[in-house]
Amino acid sequence: RSFAQCGFDADLMAAIKKHGYEKPTPIQCQALPVALSGRDVLGIAKTGSGKTAAFVLPMLVHIMDQPELAKGEGPIGLLVAPTRELAEQIHKETRRFSKPYGLRVAAAFGGLSKYEQFKALKGGSEVAVATPGRMIDLVKMKACSCARVTYLVFDEADRMFDMGFEPQVRSLLGQVRPDRQTLLFSATMPRKVEALVADALASPVRITV
Ligand code: AMP
Repeated sequence: RSFAQCGFDADLMAAIKKHGYEKPTPIQCQALPVALSGRDVLGIAKTGSGKTAAFVLPMLVHIMDQPELAKGEGPIGLLVAPTRELAEQIHKETRRFSKPYGLRVAAAFGGLSKYEQFKALKGGSEVAVATPGRMIDLVKMKACSCARVTYLVFDEADRMFDMGFEPQVRSLLGQVRPDRQTLLFSATMPRKVEALVADALASPVRITV
């Protein structure tokens, strides 16, 4: 399987090539076609597997497929990670791949000025990369709402729960659209994560690498 077989347009293919990705990793081979078909994905995979591109690339296709939505307010894609470090990596990767489309990728995680993040979200963004607590803070401050989110990703869900973010995760889930596409990645599948999958994902395709 190749990236070209995923049906990405020339702009995205060029960005993938520029990024030095020649062929998809095993998780990308399995997750990309499923996510591109619009189905929910449960990915059991670790950092280093290439899971970031597996959820970022289909998100860009999802957003570009709805140009009328792209003009509204609040993010369409919401990518949630447990730590600032992970969120930073996802943010970087998302910005690289979204460059050809001119999408605005907001940061909503610690370590950066909350005021700057507030302004960026308030000014409009198609994507937000977040840690759960900071995202909820920013929503409470009315930087944006999550009412337009139709592509939701929870990355490293097991770590998110280990860190005690279950209430924040549940709160975010209550704020996004019910007709969304949801992807959840986790290195392990403790009972709590299985429960979240049952509540948040609709007939997900389970992928293990
Ligand atoms: P991740 O698991 O998403 O954190 O990715 C781990 C590392 O693999 C990162 O440095 C990525 O840039 C890199 N990577 C992801 N997908 C590919 C690919 N298809 N080809 C080469 N490197 C990749």
